[in-house]
Amino acid sequence: MEAIERTYRVLSGQKADRVPVFSATQTGTFELMKETGAYWPEANYNPRLMVGLSTAAHTVAGLEAIRIPFCLTVLAEALGCEIDRGREDRQPAISKTLIDQGKAPQLEGLLGRGRVPAIMEAIRTIKGLGYRVPLIVGFEGPTTLAGQLVGVERLCLMMIKKPEEAFNYIKLAEEACIEYAKAVVREGADIIAPADPTASPSVLSPRMFEKFSKSPLKAIAEIHPRSILHICGNALPIIGQMAECGFAGLSVEEKVDLGAAKKAIGERKVALIGNVPSAGVLLNGSEDEVYAEAKKAINAGIDILAPSCGIAPRTPTKNLRAMVRAAYS
Ligand SMILES: [Zn+2]
Repeated sequence: MEAIERTYRVLSGQKADRVPVFSATQTGTFELMKETGAYWPEANYNPRLMVGLSTAAHTVAGLEAIRIPFCLTVLAEALGCEIDRGREDRQPAISKTLIDQGKAPQLEGLLGRGRVPAIMEAIRTIKGLGYRVPLIVGFEGPTTLAGQLVGVERLCLMMIKKPEEAFNYIKLAEEACIEYAKAVVREGADIIAPADPTASPSVLSPRMFEKFSKSPLKAIAEIHPRSILHICGNALPIIGQMAECGFAGLSVEEKVDLGAAKKAIGERKVALIGNVPSAGVLLNGSEDEVYAEAKKAINAGIDILAPSCGIAPRTPTKNLRAMVRAAYS
């Protein structure tokens, strides 16, 4: 079975010969940068370098998908947030929210702003290279994007004190996500993968998730049959709600007990993706430890083997390969 067919089968609830292995979250590492000469921060901006670094996660580390970009700031930047470009080993981050700059968000012309055109070019280039693995395009989920526009703390306060205002920002973020997701699908993305860390139970209560985050996520899941939602931390208290959003796959961290997650998901056809500890064994462990953790996830019923969250930039390639080996055997 080819990698692309295997992944598509698993994401549509069908059986496959073994678990696919890839990352639904960022894949840029320092070793892969050295290997390809495509370094951050430039590889976050230049499509040629983005293609070089992202494809190395497949050709060098053996992951069975290619995933762009390496950060969670593309939409925030396009909507007007100020970005700290980061360094070789640090991803770009928001340095000034819209509110801090006294600006109002501007949806019009979104697809022509910031790094959006560079991402579209990278998608076209990767698809033109003809790799036999799916191309995953990630982006900020609506609650996370709204948090980037106004600041996470301010958004949480707004949800309590001025819920209408919070709704307005989240609605705008949802519209931006939808326009962007439709565009990346048009350009050739095989899988869309919003990550919504600000919707995690470590930030929002499950009740607030239901009130503010769920319906915008539902609208994104409807765009494409192959969609993966990543939420950080212990997402178990909301995993049932995440499954109700309609995504084909849910990417979760090691804090999520897979048995309990499967139970909460029940009869719904949703692939569970994860949850080999990114900041634990993948970054700091030995190959044997990575292999053992990966096997543990497979035995616990993971449907797609993957890092639990974004791959840490200092993660050794040999550890990524050990995770891949665990899926093969
Ligand atoms: Zn995460």
